[in-house]
Amino acid sequence: ACDHLAQLLEGFGLAAATPLSNWIDGELIAGEGEEITLINPATGETLVHYRDAGAALMERATQAAQRGQREWMALTASERGRRMNAALRGLEGHEEALAQLESVVAGKPIRDCRAEVGKVREMFEYYAGWCDKQHGEVIPVPTSHLNYVRHVPYGVVGQITPWNAPMFTCAWQLAPAMAAGNGVVLKPSELTPFSSVVIAKLLESDGLPKGLINIVNGLGKTTGAALTDHPTISKLVFVGSPQSGRMIAEAGARRLVPSVLELGGKSANIVFADAKLDEAVAGAQAAIFAAAGQSCVAGSRLLIERSVFEQVTSRLARAAEQIAVGLPSDEATRMGPLQNRRQFEQATRMIEAAEAAGARVLTGGKRPEGLPDEAHGYFIAPTVLVDVTPDMEIAQQEVFGPVLIAMAFENEAEAVQLANETRFGLAGAVWSQDVARAHRVAGQLRAGTVWINSYKAISVMSPFGGFGDSGFGRSSGLDGLREYTVPQSVWVET
Ligand code: NAD
Repeated sequence: ACDHLAQLLEGFGLAAATPLSNWIDGELIAGEGEEITLINPATGETLVHYRDAGAALMERATQAAQRGQREWMALTASERGRRMNAALRGLEGHEEALAQLESVVAGKPIRDCRAEVGKVREMFEYYAGWCDKQHGEVIPVPTSHLNYVRHVPYGVVGQITPWNAPMFTCAWQLAPAMAAGNGVVLKPSELTPFSSVVIAKLLESDGLPKGLINIVNGLGKTTGAALTDHPTISKLVFVGSPQSGRMIAEAGARRLVPSVLELGGKSANIVFADAKLDEAVAGAQAAIFAAAGQSCVAGSRLLIERSVFEQVTSRLARAAEQIAVGLPSDEATRMGPLQNRRQFEQATRMIEAAEAAGARVLTGGKRPEGLPDEAHGYFIAPTVLVDVTPDMEIAQQEVFGPVLIAMAFENEAEAVQLANETRFGLAGAVWSQDVARAHRVAGQLRAGTVWINSYKAISVMSPFGGFGDSGFGRSSGLDGLREYTVPQSVWVET
């Protein structure tokens, strides 16, 4: 492993030569399968090799989760809540190292990683509070029975997460699953394996049953498939691309196991001429260029009313050129590289194809200038494309990179039509000072999350999920908790 990563891994007890890349039954365990190599996204250098867990370790993990879950459910609900809160003590003093680990492996700016560690805490605190508030109901059935409904856990759930926000998605799904009373086996992306292992280890160090949370690392086709196909798993929760999501849902369907799919997006950001344009430009910029566009809710389509199109796009291009692109470890960096070669090649190819189809690069479209010498990695400058038509690939498919397309509209009806003209339906925003219009347009967007005069506000308290190719089911809030329980109806003859 590279020196900095080796130090961080050793600090967390994962050793360095062949890292102990799994957390199973309260123990760090090395995989025994195929070797997987991680590349530093910023420098292009080899970071570390580790081994795929594969089916044998999946067997151990699922058995451990079954035992852990039984122990967990033997506690009272309020005791489970107390222990979830107490588990957070395990993170104390490790936040900075955890942020550094994520920054090196995921290639994300260090300040973004620190914020993500804060989210982990927030999500556990929120769901810990739900443990003893999952009331059932009494139904006034038309017979002499007493009928009541309890919300019972599935048992052991399987979770699969992507590389773009590894700590966030890990805590996002672990916390409600545990609060609902389940044991968990989670498989992070093979590209960002370690932070979830560290989170599980730190949390379980203080009062959670051994085996309640298991993190198993490896490729989708090996370890991922071993998870989705395992007979013990009775619910699948997947965060990732539509292509893989389809495979997860199919695997679930074969065993009649339900799934939640949190997939990609091509979200529209609609700017009316009467919007506060300073705020709209700042919002549009953050919506796409934060995380180098590698965010499921990225505002990747900017729809602008014709009369302000030139003004908004030229201001946006200037703002894009001001973004500090650099090494993730640099405190001043606001945008880092793309996380991996596949993502870099996909974004590069899609920009080229858009140009070939007639789109024009207003800014970016290539490697940024002025990068430090060692930055040989997957950098693309913040890019704005105009002269885009809705039928182009770039207007329909997720780039998952710092690439914004801008299109003009004449009126409200056309704005709504354009916004809804993709197979995705994850998020969208409306910028306007006309309150009635903003609500009217928001109500017509086929998107799981809509912002008005804002972008990317999200909270663990509010339901999140998609329409269409953005998936189904919900995460966060009470809806996210309910995905992890089944209503059981009990009839008592009185
Ligand atoms: P991906 O689909 O390539 O991989 C996601 C996970 O699925 C990885 O852990 C991978 O190993 C696993 N996987 C792949 N094939 C599998 C199989 N056959 N069986 C089991 N597991 C399998 O996605 P990615 O490239 O890691 O992430 C980027 C995508 O995630 C983007 O589309 C992005 O929009 C989406 N995303 C969505 C949300 C959301 O909340 N909606 C959040 C973050 C990312």
